Amino acid sequence: MTELPYPYDAPASQALFDRAAVVTPGGVNSPVRAFRAVGGTPRFMVSGTGPYLTDADGREYVDLVCSWGPMILGHAHPEVIAAVQEAVGRGTSFGTPGEGEVALGEAIVERVGPVEQVRLVSSGTEATMSAIRLARGFTRRAKVVKFAGCYHGHVDSLLAAAGSGVATFALPDTPGVTGAQAGDTIVLPYNDLDAVREAFRLHPGEIACVITEASPGNMGVVPPLPGFNQGLKDLCAEHGALFVSDEVMTGFRTSRSGWFGVDGVVPDLMTFGKVMGGGFPAAAFGGRADVMAHLAPAGPVYQAGTLSGNPIATAAGLAQLRLLDDAAYGVVDAVSARLRFLVGEALAKEGVAHRVQNASNMFSVFFTDREVRDYEGAKAQESFRYTAFFHSMLAQGVYLPPSSFESWFVSTAHDERAVQRIADALPAAARAAAEATSA
Ligand code: PLP
Repeated sequence: MTELPYPYDAPASQALFDRAAVVTPGGVNSPVRAFRAVGGTPRFMVSGTGPYLTDADGREYVDLVCSWGPMILGHAHPEVIAAVQEAVGRGTSFGTPGEGEVALGEAIVERVGPVEQVRLVSSGTEATMSAIRLARGFTRRAKVVKFAGCYHGHVDSLLAAAGSGVATFALPDTPGVTGAQAGDTIVLPYNDLDAVREAFRLHPGEIACVITEASPGNMGVVPPLPGFNQGLKDLCAEHGALFVSDEVMTGFRTSRSGWFGVDGVVPDLMTFGKVMGGGFPAAAFGGRADVMAHLAPAGPVYQAGTLSGNPIATAAGLAQLRLLDDAAYGVVDAVSARLRFLVGEALAKEGVAHRVQNASNMFSVFFTDREVRDYEGAKAQESFRYTAFFHSMLAQGVYLPPSSFESWFVSTAHDERAVQRIADALPAAARAAAEATSA
């Protein structure tokens, strides 16, 4: 067994991790789960109830990851579970149209004004991939603008990092993505409208769309500056490109109608996932009816999926959306505000330079004294302090995202007891962050 840098106190998880590493690269099915950014043994979870997760060693944690966003009602919400059980009893997949997918589509259209038509898919990655294809098919243009630090799933053309300077062609971010796939992607600094203006000037008539996280949560939480999203929309309109707002993370989380409900900027296309699937693989893209009309079978742009609109996933998503009324968002917002205050207070007491940034109820902590407005700013933080903070919280039974570049998520189930457990853990974690050294 390899030497671990942190106290090795999760033998059952470690045994599962060792087993997993034999059959799965790195022992996980999605990289961030491997704890590479923070070290130590990833906890293998066996059950979840409300705000709590229980790992294979029988330890309970207050969960501040919430499956990376979907579990906004907490784990195993009785009404969601009942809806799933009822749906499972009727069969698991038909490969035909069904009423559940119509109802989920209607719920999305009803909540999110700019979505006139919607297509269901199975993951956020599929949603953004399909939206980009549709934007290219609709505009008959090739290039896509994205922002450094924004993640849109592992779509080849979106796994690209910026070359030097503004509006240079992107370089692939990973082996396996060819220069050709990344070559039509233009990566720009986030929150920089001048860079977008310049890109349109340099590539007249070539840019199919600008895609952005409605409010980014994948470089830590870095909200758009006032006017940024509207500026993107206006530039797109001026140059005949589509504005694609990726609400996979923010959708149905940051408000009843996602980030659109917060800033009111009307995109041409939007993407959704996470909350709308109630913990099952369901995602969607949608928007202007005249654009969506280009999608097969109505139009020529091909897109399909064996499990799209799966009856179990749509039942779970619908049950969750039905429970997400104004009161529910009020609870989530209040829990988030309370935790932001407690985290900030604990770190300030220990004299740790930090910024607690939020976008509605999504939030994260940057270990820096400067406001973070883009990916460069996020990378400039002292991430080693997060590592110490994370492990102290973990040891005290609080499960944080295992990376300082991720949003924290709360749910309606985070009650007084759960919040108190977090509050009790914070002083020692703040001290650990203060004492951490970079070596
Ligand atoms: N878009 C955003 C903003 C995301 O946060 C994510 C995943 O975290 C995705 C797209 C990809 O979604 P999925 O992991 O379901 O493929």
